[in-house]
Amino acid sequence: MLDLSRERRRMVDVHLSRRGIHDREILAAMREVPREVFVGPGYEEFAYEDGPLPIAEGQTISQPYIVAFMLEMAEVGPGDQVLEVGTGSGYAAAVMSRIVDHVYTIERHAPLAEDARRRFQRLGYGNIEVRIGDGTKGWPEAAPFDAIVVAASGPGAPLALQQQLDVGGRLVIPVGDDPDEQRLLKVTRTGASTYSEEDFGGVRFVPLIGEQGWREESRPATV
Ligand code: SAM
Repeated sequence: MLDLSRERRRMVDVHLSRRGIHDREILAAMREVPREVFVGPGYEEFAYEDGPLPIAEGQTISQPYIVAFMLEMAEVGPGDQVLEVGTGSGYAAAVMSRIVDHVYTIERHAPLAEDARRRFQRLGYGNIEVRIGDGTKGWPEAAPFDAIVVAASGPGAPLALQQQLDVGGRLVIPVGDDPDEQRLLKVTRTGASTYSEEDFGGVRFVPLIGEQGWREESRPATV
């Protein structure tokens, strides 16, 4: 296997630390997880450039800076139970699994979910469960969650996901109907039926397709 550990450390230093990611657990996890295992075949040499890359089913593995930024916003930490919607390659779930107690991750495309499961097994990451299905409905049996991270952009923050947050829990999700730019929102559950909302600026994600996302035929075009 290719040894890209130097490139990985450099990526964390140049693209994350120097650009304002300070959380030590996130930086350590991103120094540990081999992103080259998660990119599509033939893209391994680009694994440590700070950009999204294509994976199967017309989807993408997110840019490392955005993964780190979303995890920092979600304040993931040791002991947490975390839900991810949009497993994709499994990279972000793998990073979270090095920090938190347990990661539940949902992917609507079965081949992606199965590839991700195989990667977790190969790397010995035993605290991640993968489910195939519509993540906009959450994972009610495993709720409440300390953090929920959605890696695709929807019309708004799904109610089911907000309701599956523990009090004090954080939901991070890109929202908006412009295919070129969405807003990254953080919704914090402040009480049994109260929530606060913060906007962390413009991002660009593939669409969240599901019951509480876009309907396939109504989704904004992705370029
Ligand atoms: N976190 C991923 C990674 O590290 O590779 C990147 C995820 S990719 C940007 C977004 C993923 O969300 C795609 O794989 C897409 O199929 C998935 N997706 C979109 N809508 C979904 C839904 N309702 N439920 C589950 N997955 C969904």
